[in-house]
Amino acid sequence: MHGTIESVDVLVVGYGPVGAALAALLGRYGVSTLVIDKAADILMSPRAIALDNEALRILQATGLAEDAFDRIVIPQVRMLCPHVGLFGRVNTRGDIDGHPKLVTFYQPDLERALRALVASHASVRAWLATEMIGFVDEGDCVTVALRESGGRERTVRARYLIGADGAGSQVRKAIGQGFTGRTYAEDWLIVDARNVPGDFDHVEFICDSQRPTPHMVAPGGRTRWEFMLRPGETREQMERDDTIKSLLSQWANTDDIRIERKAVYRFHARCCERFSRGRVFLIGDAAHVTPPFVGQGLVAGLRDAMNLAWKLASVIDGRAAPAILDSYDIERRPHAAKMIRLAKFMGKLVMPRNKLMAILVHGSMAALRLLPALRRHFDELGVKPKNEFPDGLFVRGRRRGGLKRGAQIPQGLVRGSDGTVLLSDDALGSGLVLVGFGVDASAHLAPATRQAWSAIGGSSLQLRAYGTGASASEAYECLDIQLMPRAAATGWCAVVRPDRTVLHDGPASEADRLVRASIDLLTRHEPRSRAA
Ligand SMILES: Cc1cc2nc3c(=O)[nH]c(=O)nc-3n(C[C@H](O)[C@H](O)[C@H](O)COP(=O)(O)OP(=O)(O)OC[C@H]3O[C@@H](n4cnc5c(N)ncnc54)[C@H](O)[C@@H]3O)c2cc1C
Repeated sequence: MHGTIESVDVLVVGYGPVGAALAALLGRYGVSTLVIDKAADILMSPRAIALDNEALRILQATGLAEDAFDRIVIPQVRMLCPHVGLFGRVNTRGDIDGHPKLVTFYQPDLERALRALVASHASVRAWLATEMIGFVDEGDCVTVALRESGGRERTVRARYLIGADGAGSQVRKAIGQGFTGRTYAEDWLIVDARNVPGDFDHVEFICDSQRPTPHMVAPGGRTRWEFMLRPGETREQMERDDTIKSLLSQWANTDDIRIERKAVYRFHARCCERFSRGRVFLIGDAAHVTPPFVGQGLVAGLRDAMNLAWKLASVIDGRAAPAILDSYDIERRPHAAKMIRLAKFMGKLVMPRNKLMAILVHGSMAALRLLPALRRHFDELGVKPKNEFPDGLFVRGRRRGGLKRGAQIPQGLVRGSDGTVLLSDDALGSGLVLVGFGVDASAHLAPATRQAWSAIGGSSLQLRAYGTGASASEAYECLDIQLMPRAAATGWCAVVRPDRTVLHDGPASEADRLVRASIDLLTRHEPRSRAA
């Protein structure tokens, strides 16, 4: 390896949406970061279109303003069978944790907004048209070889290397990670069109064994269609505008429709065996790919970025032991695998093999919906895996009240002592925080614990029930029921990680013990147990 040698704390290979989200989060922590991409600009192919409330909450944590990119709130997802009729419906109206349950968006707009945000962080640099061509994990750093599009080679030394380089990840291959799972036999034509007449406002899956066709509305006057190719149909033939217009003609007069983007894809359901090795970590499509039937590929990547960013920042700052980085794989991999399983199940509903299977499968689903409890379960997204960890970086314990260790603290609206109304995550900030419910939990900390907590970046905050006001500057009044009384009653407290995972909780009178146990977990040097 030759050329100029640069040193950074984190080198992110891949400036797609997941690499950009990680760079933005690291920028918030002031971590010296270099993000590179072999492409000179963002990819324009039609890919992610839907984001859920969890993704929007993570984007909130990056510091992205709510109006930074356009979105359309989707009220429902309908599943139709030509033989059975409506056999599935998900109610996506309303908010969870301060964000709509489901929105559609235009991926290039989100990527542009994230890149603008990254550019605002002095500690982050972005090099475009720069390819990673190899690296060596030296044990105490990673030496990475880069090549600019003009041919110039450069060497960068990073404390940590992140592979955010997409499904074909070179980083993943270089650390010898298999990518187990399956590749579907069918190809799909994806079309984004503009000026589509009508007032279609939701997501609809037409689960026709002859030609499954999900379609949905998107910002900018766009509609997305996804058509499964039939045997014998070719990419060249299907990507032609006249073919696309004839496919669209059953929905609208195609004279005014403008075909903006089109591409034929083959979907995959794959996950690697470990999300990290030594000083190298995989995030986003580099670690897992899923068919898009539940719109969770990018969302899963954002969860990776949120989980990893604060851990890297804490270790780099010397405020936590490197052993906490083991928990990234332990926490993220099982959840990513569950989402892939859900997408595969959904694929079976969307792509019945033939008419008989369609009648059987869709008919059974329709029959199950006659049972109110099951209908509620499906309608209210009960099948979606919860973002909570069976194992990882939290103090294990039984759930008491509405909080669960290893799961996310809910988000609600709060009002500060100066009258400002904000989402509670913004009050929690981007560090570790001791939250007291209706009580100043920090008053129970011994001076030495308080000092140790502050030394690892911990702060404290008090939430007060609606109507009780917020007098002190670190107190906030809850304006809805999400946090108080639903999550916890007066007198409780929780230690919350920067990614909003509950690390520990208990009576506020025991805050000193809870905080000391949390500090011990974060600063202990032994490697953690690994989930199978
Ligand atoms: C049709 C379709 C529909 C989808 N719908 C949804 C949806 O509704 N919701 C959802 O959440 N997800 C959806 N997804 C998935 C989503 O698009 C992806 O999960 C997401 O774009 C992955 O982002 P990423 O940053 O991990 O990878 P990518 O966006 O692939 O970015 C990887 C980057 O790494 C760069 N790179 C690669 N190798 C190197 C190298 N050696 N050196 C430097 N740079 C390199 C590439 O140029 C690229 O810019 C969909 C996907 C498809 C195909």
